[in-house]
Amino acid sequence: MKQKVIVFSQIDATVLDQLGRDYHVVVLNPKQGDINEQICTEVVDADAMIGAGRLLNETNLAPAQKLKIISTVSVGYDNYDVDYLTKNNIWLANTPHVLTETTADLAFTLLVSAARKVPELDRWTKQGEWKRTVGPAQFGQDIFGKTLGIIGLGNIGAAVARRGFYGFNMNILYHNRREKLALAQPLNARYCGLDELLSQSDFVVVAVDLNPESKALMGKAQFEKMQSHAVFVNIARGSVVDEEALVYALQQQQIFAAGLDVYQKEPLQSSPLFSLPNVVTLPHIGSATAETRLKMAKLAHKNLVDALEGRTPQYLVNG
Ligand code: NAP
Repeated sequence: MKQKVIVFSQIDATVLDQLGRDYHVVVLNPKQGDINEQICTEVVDADAMIGAGRLLNETNLAPAQKLKIISTVSVGYDNYDVDYLTKNNIWLANTPHVLTETTADLAFTLLVSAARKVPELDRWTKQGEWKRTVGPAQFGQDIFGKTLGIIGLGNIGAAVARRGFYGFNMNILYHNRREKLALAQPLNARYCGLDELLSQSDFVVVAVDLNPESKALMGKAQFEKMQSHAVFVNIARGSVVDEEALVYALQQQQIFAAGLDVYQKEPLQSSPLFSLPNVVTLPHIGSATAETRLKMAKLAHKNLVDALEGRTPQYLVNG
């Protein structure tokens, strides 16, 4: 009998076809009712799950009898109750590295867009406001040669820092819980405390994983430490930032602008952010290119197949 695989979000069609050839595949569909109820029903005799963007924990996984692996098509795994999975001998595998450069491209896109008011001036131009040469209201911030502070110099944070260092001659500061000498040395990046990073940087990019220590890392007190010409970028997870405090900092022009890909509540349907001209809002698209999403789906597929064929997946979160 074929092993049973639950697909709990949209995944690449070629990977889905391959899964369908090798396993008994059940694709969950929000149009067929509450997804959590579907998970509770289907997980009873499932061997594996693959997908992204869904909270999986005791509430919907308790009925599982023989679940071996959840293969997430993402590097972040804050949606999963890792302790519960480990206690119940369920592997969790993720897809690091293959999305690093693409996500760093997006971080830099946000940095440049926010610094140079790209979306705002695009709208302004199309609305016929360009009647004479631009003035101070349209001026942005210089990027070349400025100081870039990275909160979370990991794979993505380092890739952002490389863009700043090699492409824009930037001076790099970083803050992590532990120093990252191997990543930092080639970039001449200086390790410092969060307060120092915030007060010294012209650009601050958040690239941490979401964990109990990074939750709400950026609040009112932190935004107050930033310079009034500084640009803040978050491509990590929305909950790393107190969004209310960010809105206040933008409204009061405590900081110049922000570029955001992630939010406390997604999808973001309405928000005070929408009425602020000095924020660039994107719909969580850090890794969303066709090539990268395919690489992620293939890696998640490989993790799943390895587990079901008795091998240890390469990218285990709880191995
Ligand atoms: P990574 O290599 O594990 O890097 C995360 C870094 O954050 C680590 O170096 C870690 O270092 C640091 N960190 C964790 N908690 C911290 C804290 N409280 N203060 C300071 N630094 C902290 O992971 P990655 O591949 O770069 O991915 C990072 C995150 O980006 C993912 O977890 C995911 O949430 C997010 N992401 C978003 C998108 C998107 O579409 N927007 C796409 C991909 C990834 P220490 O442990 O030494 O502190």
